[in-house]
Amino acid sequence: MARETAELTGTVLGTTGGVYEVETEGGLLVEASLRGRLKQEQRTGDRVVAGDRVEILRQEDGSYTIETVRPRAAELVRCAPGRGAKRAKVIVANVDQVVVVFAAAHPPPNTRMLDRFLVLIESNQIPALIVVNKIELVAESELESTFSPYPDAGYEVLRTSVKTGAGIDQLRDRLKDRESVLTGPSGVGKSSLLNTLQPGLDLRIGEVSGTVDKGRHTTVSARLIRLHFGGWVADTPGLRELGLWEVDTERLQDYFPEFRARSHECRFASRCTHTHEPACAVRLAVDAGSLSPARYQSYLAMRGE
Ligand code: GDP
Ligand code: ZN
Repeated sequence: MARETAELTGTVLGTTGGVYEVETEGGLLVEASLRGRLKQEQRTGDRVVAGDRVEILRQEDGSYTIETVRPRAAELVRCAPGRGAKRAKVIVANVDQVVVVFAAAHPPPNTRMLDRFLVLIESNQIPALIVVNKIELVAESELESTFSPYPDAGYEVLRTSVKTGAGIDQLRDRLKDRESVLTGPSGVGKSSLLNTLQPGLDLRIGEVSGTVDKGRHTTVSARLIRLHFGGWVADTPGLRELGLWEVDTERLQDYFPEFRARSHECRFASRCTHTHEPACAVRLAVDAGSLSPARYQSYLAMRGE
């Protein structure tokens, strides 16, 4: 029976009330609903989310259905509320990188918070890119002393200024043809950066500041926004406040790449918590000045949470 006409591959951009907006590989925007089996999975918690690569079918009546969801390359996961079960909730799929934006000043960079963002990203096994915006406001020496631990830890740090245009081309280059999640504290210039890259980009970023309605995190789903030069950025209030997500402290030592790289030298190797153990390579390196004391202090603070 030729009920099904054409099979297409696409990317889920977002969902509202059981309707999925899908961008096909040919650039067509269609609304699709879930095939029965997928609907069942939806109820058991295995949701179809923004970023999912799907196969869709055009039905006889012209409507579209999502038939299959391709295995995900990466997931940005947030634990569902209710600590007991700790059920993972996938926010967005197939993320290539999380771009963490901080300002050089106004607001002053809170590296504790930056470290917290990085731990959350590491725990999701997604590459992080650090963007320091508003660089024209501070002296080079100040930037260097605040942010030098990050390249040392293995992170790329991009310096930008919406005011002078510095670093904007490089940022475009890093976003091009990738699926990125943009996050960072309010007021650092996330929406300004995106508007400079793509005037008229209608992001929700920047709308809310200060007060946070925690309950909304679980109900508002992510959306992907198409970049005209190629690629997508994900936008959702829950992602914007990534800094408030709960950190899984159990494997915290694995989420500091520069500690991870040295733990084989610790007497207790991967079991070392780098706090009190004798012959701890991480503590020795901090004392010797080859690991950042600020990063180590962030680590201890997060362990204490
Ligand atoms: P968001 O909350 O992270 O989206 O931040 P916004 O994009 O709304 O920017 C917050 C404020 O910082 C606005 O007043 C912007 O004009 C300003 N701003 C953004 N980028 C720069 C920059 O590179 N230099 C300076 N001096 N101000 C900037
Ligand atoms: Zn150690």
